[in-house]
Amino acid sequence: HLDQAACAGCGVKLQTEDQSALGYVPKQALSRTPVICQRCFRIKNYNEVSGITLDQDDFLKLLSHVGTTRSLVVNIVDIFDFEGSLISGLPRFVGNNPVVLAVNKIDLLPKVTNYNKIVNWVQRQAKEFGLKVVEVVLCSAKQNMGFERVVEALDKHRDGRDIYVVGATNVGKSTLINRLIRDYSDLDAELTTSQYPGTTLDLVKIPLDDGTFVIDTPGIVYKHRLTELVSKRDLQKVMPDRPLKPLVFQLNEQQTLFFGSLARFDFVQGARQSFTFYVSNALNVHRTKLERADELYEEHNGEMLAPPAREELELLPKLVKHTVRIPKGKLYDVSISGLGWVKANSDAGADLVIHAPRGVKVAVRESMI
Ligand code: GDP
Repeated sequence: HLDQAACAGCGVKLQTEDQSALGYVPKQALSRTPVICQRCFRIKNYNEVSGITLDQDDFLKLLSHVGTTRSLVVNIVDIFDFEGSLISGLPRFVGNNPVVLAVNKIDLLPKVTNYNKIVNWVQRQAKEFGLKVVEVVLCSAKQNMGFERVVEALDKHRDGRDIYVVGATNVGKSTLINRLIRDYSDLDAELTTSQYPGTTLDLVKIPLDDGTFVIDTPGIVYKHRLTELVSKRDLQKVMPDRPLKPLVFQLNEQQTLFFGSLARFDFVQGARQSFTFYVSNALNVHRTKLERADELYEEHNGEMLAPPAREELELLPKLVKHTVRIPKGKLYDVSISGLGWVKANSDAGADLVIHAPRGVKVAVRESMI
C-alpha cells in the first residue's frame, strides 16, 4: 500500500501527488516491481538526475548526519545570485568536513571579467558568511567551462570520501552532476536499484567508477529569491541565458528605473553618478522621474511595465520598499536576489530606495566586478 511504500532505490516514502517533491512516482508506475521513485528511475534509465526540492528546515534535517560522516561537501552557488543561493546553516551541518565552493554560471559574467578577482571576491564573501571553504572553483556546467577544475578540486580534497552535492534550486546542480555522471561512471552497464545503499536517507547515491559515491541532495527552495516567486514563463526572462551586457545609466537624484513590474530603483539622494545594472537583457527597463513613478506604476503595471503580465502580476507578492544607504569610500553593489545587482560607480555614496516583491532579499555588498 502506498502509505507505507518506500522507493527500492533511495528509500524515500513514495507519493503520487507532487512531481517536484521527494518520492514522486507516477500512478501507472506503481505496478512495476521493484517500485522506484521518479528521481531514481531517471538516473537508472537516463543517467540523469533531475531537480527535487525541499525547504531549508527539511533539508537541514535530511543532511544532519553529514557532520558525523567522512565526506566532501560541494556547495554549488550561482554567481548571478550569490547571496541568495548560499546555504545558511551550511557551516553547522558539515562539521569538520571540507567544503568546496563551486561557483556556477560564470558564462553569464561579461566577457571582459577578470576571474582571479572574482575568486578573491567569492573568498571574502564566503568568509563574511562564516563559511570556511578549502577551495573556490568557478565553472559553467552549461558551457563546460572550468569543469576540469571542479573535478581536480574533487580529486584533490576527496581522499576516498563520498561527495555530497548541495545547492539551492536552479543553481545548476543537476547539470553539474549529470556531467560528473557522464564522465565518471558507467551507469548503463552497472546500475541496479540495489546499488543505492542510501536507504531511508532519501538521498540518491550515485556510484562512481572508483567505488565512491556522489550523493545528490534535494535543491533548497529559498523564498527570498525572485526566481522562486515568478512564473515559469517569467523565469526565462529573469534568469539570463547569455553573458550579461551591463546597462549603464547616468542618473541624477530623484530619478527612478523600473525593471518591468518586478522591481524599482529610486535614486533618492546623492551626487550625479553612473550606475551599472547587471540584469537579464530580456528585461524591460524604464526610466522616469521619482515624483512620477508611483503614478506610472499604477497606470502601466503589467502592461508597459512588464514582465510580469497583468494576470501574473497578481500572483507576485506586492512590491515593498528597502531603504538602502550606499556608504562612501568604496565601490558597492546592491543585490536583489534573483534579479541581479546594481553597481554604484562612484565612491561618493548614495541614498536609494529599492522596491522588490515582499520577501525578496536586498543587500549591499562590496562590488563584484
Ligand atoms: P538545479 O535546480 O540546481 O538542479 O539546476 P539545473 O541544473 O536544473 O539548472 C537550472 C537552470 O540553470 C537551467 O535553466 C539550466 O539550463 C541553467 N544552468 C545550469 N548551469 C548553468 C550554467 O553554467 N550557466 C548558465 N547560464 N545556466 C546554467
